[in-house]
Amino acid sequence: MSDAEAPVLRMESVRKTFGGSVVLRDVDLAVAPHTVTALIGASGSGKSTLLRCANLLEDIDDGAIWLDGEEITDPRVDQDAVRRRIGVVFQAYNLFPHMSVLDNITLGPRRVHGASRAEAEERARGLLERLGLGDKADAYPDRLSGGQQQRVAIVRALAVRPRLLLLDEITAALDPELVGEVLEVVRGLKDDGMTMVLATHEMGFARDVADQICFLDGGVVLERGTAEQVFGDPQQERTRRFLRRIV
Ligand code: ADP
Ligand code: MG
Repeated sequence: MSDAEAPVLRMESVRKTFGGSVVLRDVDLAVAPHTVTALIGASGSGKSTLLRCANLLEDIDDGAIWLDGEEITDPRVDQDAVRRRIGVVFQAYNLFPHMSVLDNITLGPRRVHGASRAEAEERARGLLERLGLGDKADAYPDRLSGGQQQRVAIVRALAVRPRLLLLDEITAALDPELVGEVLEVVRGLKDDGMTMVLATHEMGFARDVADQICFLDGGVVLERGTAEQVFGDPQQERTRRFLRRIV
């Protein structure tokens, strides 16, 4: 693999337990630059835990994780510095209700990254514009639809120019008619070359947008491949059963 193709995120033999029960078992993962990896699998299969381990929100029990070639599970690593290079969006839009959209977005760049207000606001307004929220900068979150709030959460994650974006079922809490606008944003980010790992129940979207699909079952990556391989010709009976149920 040439340097240009070296994975942005790599996991090797990652094991995670909660109180004695194994939640991730021997997980290997490589995410190439500018690609989208979709984690699919039943509720409880370990998707969120995998994302949380990648962002060092959870300590792993065994194995190792690299970000841009740096082993971030090395105990000497500055975990806050690592997290600053990774953007995260969760299912529930965790915007601060008492802050305007603009303040929600610029808080991280100003506090954590030391950007000036002017610089942070200029980037925030540019991103809002691009995501179709140009007129919402001064609004408060409760004035926005769920889809708009989730798009603001994405802008907030992008505001610090992350190397990698982790998206955990970001449309799961939305009314069906609002799902499309959020997925459209993710598609646009892919077109811009953003590297992403997303957990999703939107199989049509995963099939459409992901370069790599990982099917998790009981904390194991049971099957992986291109969308064509995993959806079109699943090799494992459990994958077939899952897809029959959900698609
Ligand atoms: P998914 O996102 O695929 O639904 P999760 O990663 O949330 O799966 O959960 C995987 C398993 O780990 C589940 O059995 C869940 O109950 C367990 N789990 C997740 N977080 C914790 C925690 N903080 N403490 C104990 N068990 C947990
Ligand atoms: Mg989850």
